[in-house]
Amino acid sequence: MVETKQLSHYVGGEWVAGPDGDWTDDLNPSDTSEVLARVPQGTGEIVDRAATDAGDAFVLWRRTPGPQRAELLYRAADILARLRDELGELVAREVGKPIGEATAEVDRGVVILRYFAGEAVHPIGEVIPAQQEGSLQFTLRQPLGPVGFITPWNFPVAIPLWKIAPALAYGNTAVWKPAETASLIATRLAEVFQEAEFPRGVVNLVLGRGSVVGDSIVSHPDVKAISFTGSNATGMAIGRKAAERNIKYQLEMGGKNAAIVLADANLDQAAKLAASGAMRYAGQKCTATSRAVVASEVADSFVSKLRQEIEALPLAPATDPRSAVGPLIDQAAVNRVGQYVSSGQSSGGSLVLGGNLPRGEQFERGYFFEPTVILGVPHDAPVAQEEVFGPLLVVQQAQTVEEAIQLANSTQFGLSVSLFTRDVNAALEYIQDIECGMVRINGDTTGVDPHAPFGGMKGSSSHTREQGTAAKEFFTEVKTVQLNPAS
Ligand code: ADP
Repeated sequence: MVETKQLSHYVGGEWVAGPDGDWTDDLNPSDTSEVLARVPQGTGEIVDRAATDAGDAFVLWRRTPGPQRAELLYRAADILARLRDELGELVAREVGKPIGEATAEVDRGVVILRYFAGEAVHPIGEVIPAQQEGSLQFTLRQPLGPVGFITPWNFPVAIPLWKIAPALAYGNTAVWKPAETASLIATRLAEVFQEAEFPRGVVNLVLGRGSVVGDSIVSHPDVKAISFTGSNATGMAIGRKAAERNIKYQLEMGGKNAAIVLADANLDQAAKLAASGAMRYAGQKCTATSRAVVASEVADSFVSKLRQEIEALPLAPATDPRSAVGPLIDQAAVNRVGQYVSSGQSSGGSLVLGGNLPRGEQFERGYFFEPTVILGVPHDAPVAQEEVFGPLLVVQQAQTVEEAIQLANSTQFGLSVSLFTRDVNAALEYIQDIECGMVRINGDTTGVDPHAPFGGMKGSSSHTREQGTAAKEFFTEVKTVQLNPAS
């Protein structure tokens, strides 16, 4: 049993309590008898203080030389590397990510910090030949100011870091609101920035509800850009507010990611990676595989291999080293998955696997749901169209490559997709016609390299990209400068 921590906000380099008596309990989703933390409910006043401090800090931080900003980011990376095992375990406890993946996420956080430390000393403009003789013309990328970050619980280390690290590298400051259910990890990350000795006010953390803290950040006049990852409904509302204020915004939202399996595919490889993409961390990734679109002639054989691969992924509490699947985040998520299973069955689908709450003593106090596969639902059924965010895979069939691509494209989302084939012509057609931001061939729909652009098409994103050099596009603004000789 771990001790319950009372958390605070981190504003202007100080830990700020309160308000008194208004908090929510932060539970371990594998075992809800474990209350990890009490999360204070931040207010508009605390956000105001954080935004003001971030504005004051920006004046100095934007002028801090890139190599010095890099040095602090490298220091943060070293501190995070030192905390690897502790934070891996915390991720497993707080958001239910199986401990192997949880620890790998901390490792990824270290790589992200190091990558963006390197970016802080890379070119921030280019020279453009001027029409006028003797003139020098160039672009200069400059930071935006205090940036508001609103982050989800499912990648509580990687997502905040892949947003905040580039923002800081290019000279912005941060006002960050994590998901309530990831408040303890967020607090530990704020402590990492504190220990690395980032100047006061460069990184500010305000804990609490989206509707209060998140909304106050989006509306605050000193906040000059918003970077958000979460649900479509919240993201679109934030986008509208940011557009009204004419500030930059970046939204990463849902997915309904397909694994397309052609008749010539290596079915062992396809089944293994589709099972992994769909079921690891109980499908709680925006890039999780939630549909398999399979060539009809190999559908039976693929489904039987898929079943074996899924059965080989242990469903267990997240801190169990064998765990691959783990719990859902809360009871509402368990109810939601159950409702999609029922609606899939009523629309004509049949269960290949799962569909229930698992039995056993180790599942009694957690939010577990069995890995579930449904076959034979119509392509316009809600379970085949909407993001479920759970361990639920829909298997659909296609007769041709064109039909498979068309089926994969037939949702409002366009985040991640994979194609399993050895046919280079089919792969070429797919690369051209598929409507997704992240396109794989013979790979898992999940997982991204931190130095490659990340983001979706259609309803999945605001069409900006995160990570890699794409981050520079978002977190800086271009000045075109002409320097002419004095006459
Ligand atoms: P999820 O379903 O993954 O929890 P949400 O979109 O609800 O997705 O949450 C993502 C983040 O957005 C969280 O930090 C949440 O607190 C925040 N959020 C929720 N509602 C709002 C809102 N109205 N304004 C700003 N942020 C919000």
